[in-house]
Amino acid sequence: MKKSKWNGHACPICVVGVLHDGNKTVTQEYKGHPYQAKVRGAFCDKCDEAILVYDAIEEAAWLAFRDQVDRQAASELESIRKRLKLTQAQAAKLAGGGKMHFPAMSAGRPSR
Ligand SMILES: [Zn+2]
Repeated sequence: MKKSKWNGHACPICVVGVLHDGNKTVTQEYKGHPYQAKVRGAFCDKCDEAILVYDAIEEAAWLAFRDQVDRQAASELESIRKRLKLTQAQAAKLAGGGKMHFPAMSAGRPSR
């Protein structure tokens, strides 16, 4: 692997550390779903900073993961909607405004 231009340079963040090329696996999260991303770049040996190399394949994998999470969430909502025999408009109303109203209802009688 070709060394990056950052390898061996002083860390621009903490100044005392030195950057070394390497790979790391970091866990990112998208809507509560963990995703293991492999990142490449120059990592500081003193602080946690890194100068990452843009990786088109990794970027595409991350976007595909997010699409999959979104599709899964959409199909779950759709199956719940069908089970409850709601129209799409009713389901949208529930999903959009439901959270605001539930606490007041569970706290007891409406205040009027
Ligand atoms: Zn540093």
